[in-house]
Amino acid sequence: MAYDFDLYVIGAGSGGVRSARFAAGFGAKVAVAESRYLGGTCVNVGCVPKKLLVYGAHFAEDFEQSAGFGWSLGEADFDWARLIANKDREINRLNGIYHNLLVNSGVTLHEGHARLIDPHQVEINGQRYSAKHILIATGGWPQIPDIPGREHAISSNEAFFLKELPKRILVVGGGYIAVEFAGIFHGLGADTKLLYRGELFLRGFDGAVRKHLQEELTKRGLDLQFNADIERIEKQADGSLKVTLKDGRELATDCVFYATGRRPMLDNLGLENTGVKLDKRGFIEVDEQYQSAEPSILAIGDVIGRVQLTPVALAEGMAVARRLFKPEQYRPVDYNMIPTAVFSLPNIGTVGLTEEQAREAGHKVQIFESRFRPMKLTLTECQERTLMKLVVDADTDKVLGCHMVGPDAGEIVQGLAIALKAGATKRDFDETIGVHPTAAEEFVTMRTPVAG
Ligand code: FAD
Ligand code: NDP
Repeated sequence: MAYDFDLYVIGAGSGGVRSARFAAGFGAKVAVAESRYLGGTCVNVGCVPKKLLVYGAHFAEDFEQSAGFGWSLGEADFDWARLIANKDREINRLNGIYHNLLVNSGVTLHEGHARLIDPHQVEINGQRYSAKHILIATGGWPQIPDIPGREHAISSNEAFFLKELPKRILVVGGGYIAVEFAGIFHGLGADTKLLYRGELFLRGFDGAVRKHLQEELTKRGLDLQFNADIERIEKQADGSLKVTLKDGRELATDCVFYATGRRPMLDNLGLENTGVKLDKRGFIEVDEQYQSAEPSILAIGDVIGRVQLTPVALAEGMAVARRLFKPEQYRPVDYNMIPTAVFSLPNIGTVGLTEEQAREAGHKVQIFESRFRPMKLTLTECQERTLMKLVVDADTDKVLGCHMVGPDAGEIVQGLAIALKAGATKRDFDETIGVHPTAAEEFVTMRTPVAG
């Protein structure tokens, strides 16, 4: 049977664009549908605008610390509307780049909401198109628990477009988004509280990292409230919000921002017209080659709920394009040793196993740790400390995990990830000459284990 396209991609986000471009480059006839914004979550309401806001927030401490280096500045004044307008201009520019990337690589772009009609047909803007393969790359969407007053809360989608910086804000959640945005709002001058339902935020990260970040954020005056959960939110006559916690406490605020995880974006996608199955958590179930229970339909990225990170969606998109149209170049995605950063202030950078995971997996471990005041701060009042930690297998000497809390942790851990992926041992670290004077050199100068 002749199809209109070899591959029809639903969603022009990180994974969809990568897959569409590479498939077209391999000679396939490809279309991609996008209902909202080219570049998807990462470019429009995720990684990119978030990092720009983190940079914005960082200036507060740069100005303060500059005094120790002899600078005298006038009163600092911050304009949220200007930051958001400049951010929007940059995102518009990137949308244009994504448009050109797709069109120049020969991909047909359909702007609108795509819906599956059957295993080989998609409907968009009243037109139907057939395809041999359909790739679902529709990403995720913020999930806010169903509590009374939920309509008064915002998610990350709205946070990027607030007209004004709230004077007081409650950020709810203890994962990446909550921690990053609490740092942004606090840094920009909002009176910020972070509410997390458990004992300690960032579940799944190394215990020392979680504790260290808790201490550093507290030192900076960020109000961390653990074992705290919201029961209801009520709007007051003056426009402010009254928040009642499950323990009966009442808090007054101007904005409640939920960052409590993301669900797969499957709205009105027409999955019921196909044999696609969902897993227990509601994400699309795929095999190791991203094929769903319906043979002609594949899925990648946040919608399969494996690892919700842009570079992972990119790798999955590439794998699908290769498997379908360049099988001789196909390599499965390796989910081991995925480095990641939390762009809190200070940053977390991490790759490999946490101490807890290593012990649980039965490794006999040696732990190396270094805690120090970064050199840049020695002429300032700032008492921030950096943490670096190595988890080493005592039997094989292999470095199982590297963890850091401190300036540029995300940048530093990218290089370490290559070493760990290549199977570096502690001895390899020891024999590597440091770059002096840097913070990163501490990773090659830790000599004495703090725990075994
Ligand atoms: P997406 O990028 O979400 O793209 C899906 C696209 O599909 C969207 O454009 C959507 O409009 C479109 N779509 C959905 N349904 C349809 C339909 N029926 N028809 C047509 N189009 C449709 N990751 C990192 O690695 N680093 C970070 O620093 C980082 N920061 C983040 C910060 C925030 C606030 C958020 C929310 C996420 C962040 N992420 C980060 C995660 C990252 O953005 C995602 O993992 C990544 O975007 C997933 O890519 P994807 O291709 O699966 O989906
Ligand atoms: P996460 O899954 O990282 O964190 C969700 C948080 O919300 C957890 O602390 C969880 O608590 C809490 N939570 C979940 N449900 C509830 C509830 N009903 N009531 C109260 N608290 C709740 O999700 P995020 O939304 O922060 O981010 C989504 C994903 O996007 C991340 O996992 C990450 O993959 C990606 N991302 C990556 C970034 C980066 O690379 N720098 C930045 C931002 C996002 P508990 O731990 O107790 O379950």
